[in-house]
This record gives sequence, C-alpha cells and structure tokens, in this order.
Amino acid sequence: MLRGTCVSEGIGIGNAYIYDDFFTALYNKCTDVSYDTVADYTSEKARFERAVQIFLKNTEELLANLKVKLVTGTDEADILLSHTLIVKDEGFQNKVNGYLMQGQICEDAVVKVADEYRQMFLQSGDEELMLRSADIEDIKQRLISILAEKSTVDFSELNEDSILVIRELLPSQVCDIVKTGIQAIITEKGGFNSHAAILARAVGIPMITGVDFESVKTYEGRQIIVDSYGGLILPVKNKEQHKAYIDRQAVIKSEKEALEALTDSITVTRDGKRINLYANISDLADVKEAVRVNADGVGLFRTEHIFMSEKSAPDENLQYKKYCSVAEAFGDKPVIIRTLDIGGDKQISYLTSDDEQNPFLGHRAIRYCFGNLVIFKTQLRALIKAHEKHDNIRILLPFITTVEEIKEARKLIEEIAGNNSKIKIGIMIETPAAAFMILNLAKYVDFLSIGTNDLSQYIMAADRGNDKVSGLCSHYQPAVIRAIAMTMTDANAAGCEVEICGEAAADTRFIPVLIGMGIKNFSVSPSAILKVRKAIAECDYREAIDITRHVISLETEAEIKDYLQQD
Ligand code: PEP
Ligand code: MG
Repeated sequence: MLRGTCVSEGIGIGNAYIYDDFFTALYNKCTDVSYDTVADYTSEKARFERAVQIFLKNTEELLANLKVKLVTGTDEADILLSHTLIVKDEGFQNKVNGYLMQGQICEDAVVKVADEYRQMFLQSGDEELMLRSADIEDIKQRLISILAEKSTVDFSELNEDSILVIRELLPSQVCDIVKTGIQAIITEKGGFNSHAAILARAVGIPMITGVDFESVKTYEGRQIIVDSYGGLILPVKNKEQHKAYIDRQAVIKSEKEALEALTDSITVTRDGKRINLYANISDLADVKEAVRVNADGVGLFRTEHIFMSEKSAPDENLQYKKYCSVAEAFGDKPVIIRTLDIGGDKQISYLTSDDEQNPFLGHRAIRYCFGNLVIFKTQLRALIKAHEKHDNIRILLPFITTVEEIKEARKLIEEIAGNNSKIKIGIMIETPAAAFMILNLAKYVDFLSIGTNDLSQYIMAADRGNDKVSGLCSHYQPAVIRAIAMTMTDANAAGCEVEICGEAAADTRFIPVLIGMGIKNFSVSPSAILKVRKAIAECDYREAIDITRHVISLETEAEIKDYLQQD
C-alpha cells in the first residue's frame, strides 16, 4: 500500500497506467536534426507565429470541451485562458524572438524561454507562482507538440478502467484525460492548489499527489484502488476487497447526488431547530462555493492567506477591496473576518522568522500583531473601512489568552473607528486559558468562536501537525469535550453568542454532541457544508442532549468514539 495526499476526493478502481516522460522523447526527436549552420530566422519566425495561432485556436476548442464536463461551475476553465495570455504576452514573444535572431531553431527557443520562466517561478519563493510553474511547462509542451506536428501526450490507451500514474499532470492534460473517463489520477508533484488539482476537482476525478513515482511504477498494469479520502493506493487483493470498494463507490455517488438536493435549503435539526451554518473561507474560490451551497455567511475568514499570496504585506487598499468583495458576496449575511493568525505552523517568509523554539507557544497571532503594530493597524483600518461600507463584517481576534489582550485590541479599534463604531468584535476560544476565563472574557466581546483544532492541541499538549500524537490531539478526547462544554455553559451564563469553527464542526459523527451542548452556529469548509447540513437534519435536538450527557460521563477517547460510531 502507498500513501499520498488527497487533492480531489473519490474512489477509483482500475489498471495502473504508468505515463513516463513522453515529452522528452519527442523533444529529443525533433531537435535531433543537427544544424551545422544557424537556422533561417525568417522561416523559424514564421513557424513560431503559426504555432502560436494554432495554440490559441486549440485552446478555444479545449475550453469548449472542458466547460461541458465541469461539475463545479465554469470559472475553473479560465485557467486555460491564462495560458493564452502568456503566449500572447509581448515579453514572452520577444524572448523567443531573441533566441530565433541568434539562429536557434524554434523548438529550442521555446524550450529555453519556457524553462527560464519556469525557473523564475520556482525560485520566486511565492507558493502561488511556484504552483503556476506547471502552467509554463504545459504551454511549452503544447507549443512543441504543435511545432513537431505530433502530440506530446498520448493518452489514447486510457479508458474508463484506467488509473493514470504520472510524475506531474499539466492543466491542459486534464482536458484530454476527461474525455477518456479514467477512474483516478496519481502524481508525484503538485499541491492542492495546483491548477491540475483544481481542474481535477472541478471535473470530479479522484486525485492523489505526493506519491513516489518509482514506487507506484511497481503497480504497472495491475488493478489498483485509489481511495483518495484516506490518501491510499492499494493493489486489488481479492474479490471481497474489490467488491467492498465497488459498493463504496456506488454509495458515495448516490450520496453526492442526494446532497446536491440540499444546496438551496436552510439548516434545521430533525425537530425543527434552526442552526446557522457558516463557511470557513480563505479565498474567492471558497466564497463562490459557499454562496452556491447557501451558507448562512462566513464564520471564519482566514486572512493570513491574503498575506501568504503576496510578496510583501498587502496594503490597506488591497485588503479593503478583498474584505469588501467577500462581504458583498454575502449580502446581509454575517462575514466574520479573523485578524492575522500567523506564527505556529503558518510562517510567512517576509514577516516571520523561524527562530522560536516552540512557535506554537510563542509569538503567534494576536501576540505577533501587538509586536508589529504597523501591520496590525493597517489590517484594522482596512476592516473598519470595509465595515463602513458593509455592516455585515465582524472582527475576530485569534489566540486570545487574557482580558488585557482584548482591551488592548479594542483600544486600537476604537482609536481607528471612534467610540460609536458598531462593528462587532469576537475572540477565538482556542487555548485552555481562554476556556477557563469565559465569564470574564465574554464581558468585553460580542461573540466567541471555538477553534477546536488549536483547542485540542493546547488542552492535550499535543502538536496538531505531528502524526505521532494525533490520537491525543483529538476532539474526541474527554478533556477537549469538557472544555467545549464548559465554554458553552459559561457563555450561556454570560449571554454571549458562540460559534464553532474548528474541524470538529464538520465531523458528522460528532455533530450531535455539539448540538446537544446547545451550539447553534457552525462554521465549516464550503466543501463540507452539504454533508453537515444533512447530518444536522438527521439530528434530533432532544436526543442530542442525551447523547452529550452520556459522552460527558465517559472517561476515554476510545469509549467516546465507540459510543458515537453506533448508529
Ligand atoms: C482552530 O484552531 O480550530 C481554527 C479554526 O483556526 P486555525 O485552524 O486556522 O488555526
Ligand atoms: Mg486556530
């Protein structure tokens, strides 16, 4: 069995088709012609111009085909449009022309320029640009294939029984693959946000990345199972195992179809209690999906992603525009925007330095902001200005441990917004200190947001990123459950609104425990909204109270998990 990272969910069963560097072979063949003399500039330039025209025309066709297959809307197809912009770009064209003028053949000129771009993207240190380097590779291979009048890819042997194993998948290749109806994709390179992964999700093909190519090559021609939920690749062992996965595939398919029926619904328990189901968002793609599935607003906007996608701290205007566009997308529905939560495992090279011995216990989130007031005040100004235009915006402060921190943050907000600002301010409850101090902290804020990811790690003293202690860093641990319950009891006593926004809120088995504690506001990732809406609809509030009581009486994680697994 091999493991990788799931970037597109699903189960695929089929024959492993190993696709190994077809491009290099083709490129070597077309540059094999030995040129003793320099190439003729005029004819090479004409070849390049013709190749660009064909490239643009082919892209239009690819786009038209792709749009028919998309399951998530049509904007993902714009990835291919960006390829046409690069090819038409004056800078790109001039560079190729420069090599042609030096007497190079077209193929070499294109490869050199594309490789230079790719290198530049890879060395930029910018995660977004690094992922975009696959787009440059894609453009290069397609241009070469046009010049050679041969395809650089040959997926003709793929069919609906195939699982494609490839070192790196390029965005336009997803378009070719879609036609073949393959079961799943396994790659070595590429992250969750690589364009190929975005497209794979958009067309609903299961995909796992980060798998050692040489290891998976040993499965060549064999029937394998890709269970991307668990990031697993398994050879088919026997009929029983095979059938079990076929059955699971069928169940997942019908469950997904059934979930789509809930896109326009509101969220209520079986006995009619209205629950607000908000979205955790990081970028505009999340906003789109959250709006599509009728989220009740945004429960957590992780703004650190705005900072991560820039090379330097984003200025007030850029932030203002982003906050406004999210707020606008949700109309009157609340949009809770969390101030910068960096440090811990979220390091931003131009802001933080990794010189702390225990970064999760160090200069993180609100502590970082107090130590870097220019950055903090810029963000607060952008938020307050955005709130003046969109009063559905609320501010959420992360990693609060003391009353003084709230007072200090409020003072800064008042300095900018004045005493009359109606902007609502909340705090994350994600440390034991905060959980113990709810009655006091609640006096100074409008709402509380329980972050079970960090709360679990700090209550259990178990790093949330360390596999070896993942059993401890769990919301099924009795200590964590008691901390959530205590937060709810004290927040109710203080009359303070509570939402829950950690991963526990999206755990369908755990939802009755949270409902039974009286939690009325859930915030989960947009892709989890429909399954959570369904789980809530199946949950009876009165029964949930009994479930919670029983869970709180249990002593171990195993007992709690066992009890909640029973249907
Ligand atoms: C949490 O800690 O539960 C949370 C929602 O915040 P993050 O995962 O961004 O730390
Ligand atoms: Mg957190």
